[in-house]
Amino acid sequence: MTTPETPGAPGDPAAGGGRGPAEAPPEPRQLPELIRTKRDGGRLTEADIGGFVRAVVDRSAQDAQIGAMLMAIRLQGMDLEETSALTQALAKSGQQLQWPEAWHQQLVDKHSTGGVGDKISLVLAPALAACGCKVPMISGRGLGHTGGTLDKLESIPGFSVLQSPEQMQALLEQVGCCIVGQSEQLVPADGILYAVRDVTATVDSLPLITASILSKKAVEGLSALVVDVKFGEAAVFPSQEQARELARALVGVGAGLGIRVAAALTAMDNPLGRTVGHTLEVEEALLCLDGVGPPDLRDLVTRLGGALLWLSGQAEAQAEGAARVAAALDDGSARDRFERMLAGQGVDAGLARALCAGTPAQRRQLLPCAQHQEELCSPADGTVERIRALVLALVLHELGAGRSRAGQPLRHGVGAELLVTVGQKLRRGTPWLRVHLDRPALGAPQRRALQGALVLSGREPFTAPSPFAELVLPPPATH
Ligand code: URA
Repeated sequence: MTTPETPGAPGDPAAGGGRGPAEAPPEPRQLPELIRTKRDGGRLTEADIGGFVRAVVDRSAQDAQIGAMLMAIRLQGMDLEETSALTQALAKSGQQLQWPEAWHQQLVDKHSTGGVGDKISLVLAPALAACGCKVPMISGRGLGHTGGTLDKLESIPGFSVLQSPEQMQALLEQVGCCIVGQSEQLVPADGILYAVRDVTATVDSLPLITASILSKKAVEGLSALVVDVKFGEAAVFPSQEQARELARALVGVGAGLGIRVAAALTAMDNPLGRTVGHTLEVEEALLCLDGVGPPDLRDLVTRLGGALLWLSGQAEAQAEGAARVAAALDDGSARDRFERMLAGQGVDAGLARALCAGTPAQRRQLLPCAQHQEELCSPADGTVERIRALVLALVLHELGAGRSRAGQPLRHGVGAELLVTVGQKLRRGTPWLRVHLDRPALGAPQRRALQGALVLSGREPFTAPSPFAELVLPPPATH
């Protein structure tokens, strides 16, 4: 039998048990040195990355050092090994969630790299729960110009994104899904880095996105994950090629962590659906949960859900999975899970009921609204070729829908409703956009920018194509 070796205290002559002086473990490198290494294009070791993440969580790292390291990573990149080490260090900064063995196959989740009008998670989590899945979704806030699932849910009075692991387990037992944020217990390091990235122009980094997303998912103990990797003007990575590279990193690093990850590449040039902004998106998610709502939103919800049911072995084929998700939207069972999730996460049960059972007009009365509305009219005749989501997002950000300082409160009622769809014919003077704002009117530059978001052509009217482009699959399971 061997006895475990006990390292002696530094300078202890007894250390090493008579085999000569024990080698002292290398001193952890100081943060300025780590930042310099990355700034100059060097590699960080697993120990370096672990040291940086520990300093972030124990608050010994100054904000300036965190920002500098993030910028160095943004500019110099990380190889797959460093990315994987960062993912694991972030995941280990908090607790690992543990679930009953019997749930193993049912544990699935979806995450997005960030879009405009992207309310898929609000619909998909309860739809998957209605299909028998367990969805312990750790989600995020707005990043850069993109909207965040947590911010949207927090626009519902009472909703709490802070749930302990025990509360999450109770929600999964009783409802089948929950949507929560990072906390002191759950991936705290990602929570801190995420907020700093939002305000330091370090969002668009392949390793930082990969580690941020997969650290949250590694903690969830999943059977399968689908990441919606957006590409296009309003995506974090505009080109499909760059998005594919990110998709491959997510699938590869995920496989290293033992998670079956598939990545769907989906276009993000036009807003998803017809609303952008927190409460407006909650209203539209409810429409989709009613079995109606915009076709592009429903299309992605059912495709991503279908892929997850198939990937986790709960459906024979993606199409069968998609049909089950569609049925859960049509028969009201997904909306019922949403109502129960709201009530389980702090929303008054009467309000949750009224929101889910109400008409669109009744729902609007129940959620915070902006004080003013302003409609913009088409400056010419034409066919709607594109509605530039990035332009809308930047103006709405300026109007208070996004943050420019970490922790800044948001204006939940600020947003925009598209009154037209891509492909439709439009006459000059027809209203095409309704902006919801907390000031009496848009500024002239904002109005001009928004009018530039409407791209018209002389084409015949057409049906807008699905945003879905391709699915990057994980290596086949070996068991
Ligand atoms: N979602 C995340 O959780 N992190 C990112 O970096 C981007 C999207």
